[in-house]
Amino acid sequence: MAPYLVGRIEKNGWTITVQKDVRDILESASVDVAGGAIKGIVWSHYHFDHTGDPSRFPSSTKLIVGPGFKARFPRENTWPNKENSPLREDMWARRELVEVTSEAFEKSGIRVGRFRAVDWWGDGSFFFLDTPGHLLGHLCALARTTAADGEGDDSFIFMGGDAAHHGGEFRPSEYLPLPKSLTLDGALLKGKNFPSPCPGEVLQGIHPKQSAAEPFYSAKEGFNEDTELAKWTIDGVVEFDGHDEMLVVIAHDHSLLDVLDFYPNADANGWREKMLNRKGWWRFLADFASGIEQAAGGAGKL
Ligand SMILES: [Zn+2]
Repeated sequence: MAPYLVGRIEKNGWTITVQKDVRDILESASVDVAGGAIKGIVWSHYHFDHTGDPSRFPSSTKLIVGPGFKARFPRENTWPNKENSPLREDMWARRELVEVTSEAFEKSGIRVGRFRAVDWWGDGSFFFLDTPGHLLGHLCALARTTAADGEGDDSFIFMGGDAAHHGGEFRPSEYLPLPKSLTLDGALLKGKNFPSPCPGEVLQGIHPKQSAAEPFYSAKEGFNEDTELAKWTIDGVVEFDGHDEMLVVIAHDHSLLDVLDFYPNADANGWREKMLNRKGWWRFLADFASGIEQAAGGAGKL
């Protein structure tokens, strides 16, 4: 990483462990990374926990970024040309840097939900979505996981990056209201006094607005580069999340870690038969266990 980031990480006393790099994972499935099998890697945005280490890919692998990136990071704004830059010049000095530009989004004429979209392969299988707010150039992606045969069983995985950071930012919603009763699996609740099943009123009771149809959280002022745009983007995630053909995965959703299967042990296309979206919807509520325990206890429901 750029020295500026290393310094910040050390100053904050953080320890960052990467057991397997993306390249290691690909190679464990016999993908010929050195031979150029990976044509491009995508940065949802340039925060260090999302960039990986592009230098582990050969120079034939392109780096794909979102709108405005090239203007913010000309060579002179990268380390070592600029001391405090978060990005190193050698991350893309010897590879093609491809920006999905604002003009490309406008020219495509495609909207998916509220978002401007680019159909990357031109066959409806994979879209980049212009999802501004968290950081300049923030991209989400939408991958089709069932054939577009008009049989009514469409399914997509929405790769949300940092459009939101916790399920409580987009659930519950008018499309996906709190359930009347909720049973979370035992592993999530280990050592906790979480009611099982937990009545919907108890969940609603700890909601800041006592609402069953509005998200628990809203984006904090100053957390994202543009708060208003970030909120607009989250509203779009709410709309996606309300569709049963959509598996919404945001980068930091730890509640999905034991719901999803991981490459190479998974066929992502099969998520809908396994109802992985439904399995994951309410698991974030385990993070509120102590409040829920208190509320349930106070109401004499335990
Ligand atoms: Zn981020």
